[in-house]
Amino acid sequence: MIHNPKMECMGREEMTALQSERLRKIVKTCYEKVPFYKNKMDKMGIKPEDIKGIEDIHKLPFTTKHDLRDEYPFGLQATPMSEVRRIHASSGTTGKPVVDTYTDNDIANWAEGVARVMAVGDIGPGDVVQVSYGYGLFTGGLGAHDGAHVRGAVQLPTSAGNSEKQIMLMKDFQSAALCCTPSYALHLAECIEKSDQVKIEDMNLRVGFFGAEPWTEGMRKELEAKLHIKAIDIYGLTEMSGPGVGGECEYQCGTHLWEDMFYPEIINPDTLEPCKPGEFGELVFTSLCKEAMPIIRYRTRDLTRLIYDKCKCGRTAVRMDRILGRSDDMMIIRGVNVFPSQIETVLTEFPAFTPQYFITVDRKNNEDTFDLDVELRSEFFSPNPSKQMPYIKPLYDRIVSLIGIKPNIHIKEPGGIERSIGKAKHVKDLRNFQN
Ligand SMILES: [Zn+2]
Repeated sequence: MIHNPKMECMGREEMTALQSERLRKIVKTCYEKVPFYKNKMDKMGIKPEDIKGIEDIHKLPFTTKHDLRDEYPFGLQATPMSEVRRIHASSGTTGKPVVDTYTDNDIANWAEGVARVMAVGDIGPGDVVQVSYGYGLFTGGLGAHDGAHVRGAVQLPTSAGNSEKQIMLMKDFQSAALCCTPSYALHLAECIEKSDQVKIEDMNLRVGFFGAEPWTEGMRKELEAKLHIKAIDIYGLTEMSGPGVGGECEYQCGTHLWEDMFYPEIINPDTLEPCKPGEFGELVFTSLCKEAMPIIRYRTRDLTRLIYDKCKCGRTAVRMDRILGRSDDMMIIRGVNVFPSQIETVLTEFPAFTPQYFITVDRKNNEDTFDLDVELRSEFFSPNPSKQMPYIKPLYDRIVSLIGIKPNIHIKEPGGIERSIGKAKHVKDLRNFQN
């Protein structure tokens, strides 16, 4: 089901005209109300009237996460606080969090973006939507909540954690949809498997809206098989409102971006020049409708490409390919670029292993070490190292051939790798502490 056919299926020419009109307005607002943007544009010799349409967007300055932290908390706000209705912030592990503020219209547009993704799973009146994203400053919980509201569905705000109770409510309330991080969904699926109280057959789940962390096709297959659902990727970032900047359609062939609200570009992260159509590079967003805190050309650090071909679902909204990784997440180990998601992809090729893993990078005798904890499924596990060897060898060979570095692989017992209830933590880089 398509939530908003007018916007999601708009012809390219009409979309370009709409984006141009919205860009001109947002640039004028930023120039007049946000000193940060006025200063940047003055330095570059750009005036709002130089931006005639969306084709001029490359003339505008970028905004980085660093800029958002410098302007903490409200330096980028374009409206008085009296017009603001809510504040969210990202869970910054270091330093100041990234803040986003919302007017009434901003909250409505955000919910609209989430609702468009939920419509893919035909969510509507009578459907219980279990929101197991964390409620709080994190945008996941309230974002999914408001999206379900717009669809006329039943909101079940369980928030994250307390898995046993989550599962009990999932069964007793017959939840139709589960919204959480893919890693937490997998954890819930494992809890259901182990439980003697409930079986997956007792559930009414038909769709999962998973996001807030990158995940792989292998993880999707695992979640769909274990939970008997269709697993839909919902994409977003706090800087652009939260979840619902885009989402997959029923064909699961890339993430449609709601480009009437969030204009995407792909740039070369080294030269900052626009990439050729279809080329991989860094994703950049401009919020075209945001009132309280509009952001121009935000560098997401996500590496992906854009697909403009028409989709089988009928939506014309541009599709984003799977995110290869965040340029921030990229580790350089022995001079080689490594993304944690590559390890997950490899693991899902081997049925004996669960998709759980933990990487520890360190430096000993001036050489990087790469330790990888992985988990065998209970039917394959043995504490006897010689019985583990037949599983380690092919995994080791695959990682060496794909990534080019030799891991020290450690087998953990089933459930031996710590599960997280929010965003999964996969890497510990001890090298940072020695510099
Ligand atoms: Zn589609």
